[in-house]
Amino acid sequence: MADSPRILVIEDETAIADTLVYALRTEGFAPEWRATGREGLEAFSKQGFALVILDVGLPDMSGFDLCRELRTRTAVPVLFLTARNSEIDRVVGLELGGDDYVAKPFSPREVTARVRAILRRTNAVSQRECHLIGDTFSVDEERKTVRFRGVALELTRYEYRLLAVLLARPGRVYSRDELMTQAWEDPGASMDRTVDAHIKTLRAKLRAAAVTAGCADAAEPIQTHRGEGYSVRITP
Ligand code: CA
Repeated sequence: MADSPRILVIEDETAIADTLVYALRTEGFAPEWRATGREGLEAFSKQGFALVILDVGLPDMSGFDLCRELRTRTAVPVLFLTARNSEIDRVVGLELGGDDYVAKPFSPREVTARVRAILRRTNAVSQRECHLIGDTFSVDEERKTVRFRGVALELTRYEYRLLAVLLARPGRVYSRDELMTQAWEDPGASMDRTVDAHIKTLRAKLRAAAVTAGCADAAEPIQTHRGEGYSVRITP
């Protein structure tokens, strides 16, 4: 099914992974399995997943470190699989930003129920607070923050406003004057090169975010239209 939520399973024990993949597929999810942390991260960078099921004890790195790495680039929900009490303590401490955990041995049904619950919760939150623009941007207007390819951008006030204006109508070309009028409080005091300077820093931040998201080769989202102004494209 094309719109089944894609779930990345990172687990080194084949028997457990097989059981999980089978259970998830039966429940209407689209699971993919990787047996090491490195392969898991690689798979995650290449394509989006709605949720990651992550074994704490992986052969090449700990699930905790992997989660930390994931958190630098995305807010994807993480469900930990834990084998020992000491692991559970750390997960429950929530220092790692995991969303939930299941202790081994578990029933596959328990895992799919947790997955469903987490997705329901996170979807409810993101629908309330953010809106997705195309495949690459999500804007939280209340918090004045923007994510690009899942990575939160650290924007100045005017960078945020500029981007928000462009994102309000993707593809439309805005002149510098229009951008100035819509994004600045006192447009009279600014000049064309103020817009250009902010576009330049915005582009650098978007580029850095794309690298973090593992999409360094992707096209620039902000387009320059010679003599006319700027527009934003939202397709990958
Ligand atoms: Ca393991």
